[in-house]
Amino acid sequence: MQTTEVNDPYLRIEPAEIKALEDKYLFSTYARSDFYVSHGSGAHVYDLAGRRYLDFLSGIAVNSLGYSHPRLIRVLLAQGKKLIHCSNLYYHAYQGMLAKKLADISGMSKVFFTNSGTEAIEAALKIARAYARLNGCETKSAILALKNAFHGRTFGALSITAQEKYQAPFRPLLPDVDIVEDVTVSALEKAFTDRVCALVVEPIQGEGGVVPLPADFLQTARLLCTRYNALLVLDEIQSGMGRTGKFFAYQHYGVEPDLVTLAKSLAAGYPLGAVLGHARVAESLKPGEHGTTFGGGPLACRLALEVLDVIEDERLLARVTELGQYLKQGLQGLASRHRSIGEIRGMGLMIGVDLGSLAKETVSRLLNRGIIANAAHNTVLRLLPPYVISQAEIDEFLRVLDVVLTEIETEPTPNTGAGV
Ligand code: PLP
Repeated sequence: MQTTEVNDPYLRIEPAEIKALEDKYLFSTYARSDFYVSHGSGAHVYDLAGRRYLDFLSGIAVNSLGYSHPRLIRVLLAQGKKLIHCSNLYYHAYQGMLAKKLADISGMSKVFFTNSGTEAIEAALKIARAYARLNGCETKSAILALKNAFHGRTFGALSITAQEKYQAPFRPLLPDVDIVEDVTVSALEKAFTDRVCALVVEPIQGEGGVVPLPADFLQTARLLCTRYNALLVLDEIQSGMGRTGKFFAYQHYGVEPDLVTLAKSLAAGYPLGAVLGHARVAESLKPGEHGTTFGGGPLACRLALEVLDVIEDERLLARVTELGQYLKQGLQGLASRHRSIGEIRGMGLMIGVDLGSLAKETVSRLLNRGIIANAAHNTVLRLLPPYVISQAEIDEFLRVLDVVLTEIETEPTPNTGAGV
């Protein structure tokens, strides 16, 4: 336990009490695992009993610099003492500097800051409508998105998150959304009309099972958006900020978007999101047409500046590329011995391992053995370790995964009693 926490009265609480309080007082939106997080260091997280876990999830692609990175802690304390929040009615030192850095690394020219991924998507949807309107196209309001995408939970973002389990309880959703049911060039060509104002896609679908878009699909998307004067919106909320070994996953494809959304690891643990866009697109939003109380606050922006500096100073993009290849090779080695491993996909340190019906059980057994991972789409082991993970820690993960898969594969299939 860290010494600064010893006198905190709110930490004198047992897991059973935490659970009882949550059960009684929280909306039951989360099916939490029985895991009570205390603190973290590097690639490790500790529970309240002091047990150490190796993190291959990074708070779902957020804690990219691991836990308690000394430079983030220094900035957090220094900026926390100076100024945590000021309204967007005034200037502070860091929004402009951060926007410039994001513009430089993305090739975009303007930024709008939000607090979360879903708000970045909302902003992008409004910008797309405003852009079409400004170009004199009142009827150009249709938004295209892909089946199995995940863009967030607010109504606009949810409307383009074409997964029944998320949408069903909340219909009716935003009108004028068309879903491309197959990730094929011909399906995309069929979906485009003059009424389309934007196509929103994740270059690598994260929640949908770590599925990179085929290069010809994304390249055709660019051509069609240009032809129909629609905006290509790339959702890099999970895949951006270096996760794939480049700052943005689209940089692997040689495709230039009109808008890019970011969040998650932008401030590596502190809430911050952003939409980046070209000037001609950004100009479509006039003062007062969009805004937020918290988005782009001084503490969040100062932290994000430090995250970008750390990525550069510690050469983390190269590290992500190297360690991603190392992890993938290790997984391919395991695949030759384990029949339960299907396709291994992804880029850099964003990797999915198809395990079919065994994915959830694998995640739960990994946790019992001190490894945090996640099952995306219920069938894919999703691996998103922090960029500071070491080769030795990857070896440890592979060793434990080997044991867990051997255990599951050699156990007799449970007898359901059917037909007896
Ligand atoms: N877009 C993508 C690709 C995501 O992975 C997520 C979150 O998982 C979101 C949008 C929504 O972001 P947030 O949870 O910050 O609202």
